[in-house]
Amino acid sequence: MECAIMGKFCPLILSSSRILMVEKKNVLGIRDKFKFCSSKFKIQALEAETHLSSEVGAERRGSSTDVGIGELVWPSPSDEIPFWKKDFPSWGVSPEVPADINKDSDRMHIIHVTAEMAPIAKVGGLGDVVTGLARACLSRGHAVEIMLPFYECIQKQQIKDLALITTYESYHGGNWVPTNAYRGEVSGIPVVFIEPSNHFFKGQFVYGGSYNELEAYLFFSRACLEWMQATGAQPDIIHVHEWQAGALPLLYWDMYHYLSLKKPRIVLTIHNMEHYGECSQEQLSKSGLDGSIYATIDKAIDDRTIGHNPERLSLLKGGIVYSNAVVTVSPTYLKETLCTGWLASTLLRNRDKYFGVLNGIDTAMWNPATDIFLPVKFNAQKPEGKKLCKYYVQRGLGLALEGTLDGNHLPDITCKVPLVVCITRLVPQKGLHLISHAIKHVEELGGQMVILGKASDVRVEREFEGLAKLHNQGPSTRILLMFSEELSHMLYAAADMVLVPSMYEPCGLSQMIGMRYGAVPVVRMTGGLADTVFDVDDQSNHDRANGFVFEGIDEGSLNWALDRAFAHYREKADEWNGIIGKVMEVDNSWNNTAGKYVEIYNSVRVRL
Ligand code: ADP
Repeated sequence: MECAIMGKFCPLILSSSRILMVEKKNVLGIRDKFKFCSSKFKIQALEAETHLSSEVGAERRGSSTDVGIGELVWPSPSDEIPFWKKDFPSWGVSPEVPADINKDSDRMHIIHVTAEMAPIAKVGGLGDVVTGLARACLSRGHAVEIMLPFYECIQKQQIKDLALITTYESYHGGNWVPTNAYRGEVSGIPVVFIEPSNHFFKGQFVYGGSYNELEAYLFFSRACLEWMQATGAQPDIIHVHEWQAGALPLLYWDMYHYLSLKKPRIVLTIHNMEHYGECSQEQLSKSGLDGSIYATIDKAIDDRTIGHNPERLSLLKGGIVYSNAVVTVSPTYLKETLCTGWLASTLLRNRDKYFGVLNGIDTAMWNPATDIFLPVKFNAQKPEGKKLCKYYVQRGLGLALEGTLDGNHLPDITCKVPLVVCITRLVPQKGLHLISHAIKHVEELGGQMVILGKASDVRVEREFEGLAKLHNQGPSTRILLMFSEELSHMLYAAADMVLVPSMYEPCGLSQMIGMRYGAVPVVRMTGGLADTVFDVDDQSNHDRANGFVFEGIDEGSLNWALDRAFAHYREKADEWNGIIGKVMEVDNSWNNTAGKYVEIYNSVRVRL
C-alpha cells in the first residue's frame, strides 16, 4: 500500500492488534512510544491516549475518549463523507453544575430573550454568549431560562424533553396570532420556544427566511411578554439581546407593566452596534404600540434621519433608552461606542446605566480535553495531541504534510509550516481585505491557511468563491465557505495561529477559543481584541503577552504581525511553546465575568 503526501491517502487505522513496538521521535515532537502494526498502517499511541485519561475520565460519559486514538481513521479529501460530517455523539454539555462554583446567596430568576442560542440556533458569537452566560448563572444558583423563536431549522433531536406547554395568542398587525410555547432543555438550560402559527421563523436558516425579519422579531418580543403574562411568570430580570429584542423594553414599560408584569427589570446587551433595528413608525405600531410616540430624540428616533421623509426609528436605540441597564461586550468597545457612531449621543445620555463586561467562553463546551469533535484530545499540561489534530486536519483537507510518511511511521514535524486559521462570518467588519491578503502573505511566508467562513452577501460570497477556486487546489490554502460547528472545533485544535483582523470587534470569541485550543492569536487592536490579546514584543506588558497585535487597517500592518509570528514560530521554538502553554491557561471563562452581570442584575432588580 502506498501513501501519498497530498490528496490520496491510505487509511491509517489505529488499532491494538498485531503490535510492534517502535520508539521514535514522532509527530508529537517528543519521544513517545507508539505501537505500530506492521501490515496495515495500524497504530496505537499508548501514551498519547493515556496522558489525558484521568482528566478526561471524569467527563467521559460517552463522548470524550470514545473517539480515542485507538480507533482513529485518518481522513482524506476523497472521502465520500468529509471528516467533519461524520456521525459524532450528540453535542451538548453535561447539565451538571461544577462543584467548585460558589453559589450566590441572593438568587434571582433571569429570562433571556434572544434570537440565537448555541448550539441549536447559532450564527455567531451571540449564540455562544447567551448559552455560556446562562450556564454560568445557573451554576451560581440562579433560575435561568432562555426564550428563543422556534426556528424551523432547529434540529429537534438536540432538545431534551421537548414538550408543548402553552397555546396562547399574541398580537401582531391587527390580529391575535395563535402561538405555541414549547419547553425543553438544551445543554442543561431550560428553554422556552415560541412558535407562531404564521410564516415567521420558517426556512432553512436562522436568518434570511422569506418573511419580514423586523416584524418577526417585533412579534417575538411581544409574544415573550404575552407568554409571561399568560403563565404568571414574574422574573427578576428580563435580559434582552441585540436589536431583535430591542422593542421588548418599550413594550414592557409602556404596556405590560400596566397590565400584570410588575416585578421584572430589563437588562439589554448590545453585542454589535452595527445592527440597530431600523424600523418605521407603522412597523412598530404593528406590535400594538403607537409608533409615532417614539419618534423623538429622547426615545427611539434614528438621529441620522431627523428631517428626512420619512424619519426612521431604531429598535436598538429604543432598547437603550427603555432598559434599566445596558451592557456591551468589552470595556474597550464601550469606550469606542461612546466616541464614535450615531448612537454615541444616546449612550452618553445614558452613561450612568451603560457598562462594559467582557464576554467569556463556555469552557465546558470549548474544552480540548473533552471535545467530542477532536480526533485526539489534549490540554495545557499534555499538549501533544494538538500536533495530531493538525496532522489529521491537514490530511483531511489535502494540505501538504510536514515531513513524509516513512513506511509505517508518522512524520517528523519540522515546525516550519505554521497553520493559520480564520473562522468567521465573512462580513466587512471582519476585515475582508485583510483576510484575502493574508491568504497571499501566508503562502509567501511558506505557511498554510484555512478559512472557514460564511458570507451573507452574494458579492462577498462570489469574491471568496473566486479565491477558493484559485487557491484550493494548491498545497497550502483551503477556503471553505460554509458554517460548520464541528469543523470549527477541529480547526481551532489544529491551528498554530488564529487570525482575527477585524476592522472593529465588540468582543470577539474566536481569539479566546483559539487560545483555549493552543492557537496563538494574531489580531488587530480593536474592541475586545485589545482587551484580550497583548503583544509578545511589547516589553511593557510582558506578563500578559500572549499574541501578535497590529493597529493599522492596511496590508503592511498585517504583514508586520504575521512576519513576527512566523519568525517566532520558526526561530524560537521554546518561546513559542511557552506562549502556547500560556494562552491555554488564560482564564477567559464565564466564571471570571458572569459575576459582573450578577452585580448589574442586582443593581436594578426590585423586591416586591
Ligand atoms: P461574531 O459574533 O461577530 O460572529 P465572534 O468571534 O464573537 O464573532 O464569534 C463567532 C463565533 O461563531 C465563534 O464561536 C466562531 O467559532 C463561530 N463561527 C463563525 N463563523 C463560523 C463558521 N463559518 N463555521 C463555524 N463556526 C463559525
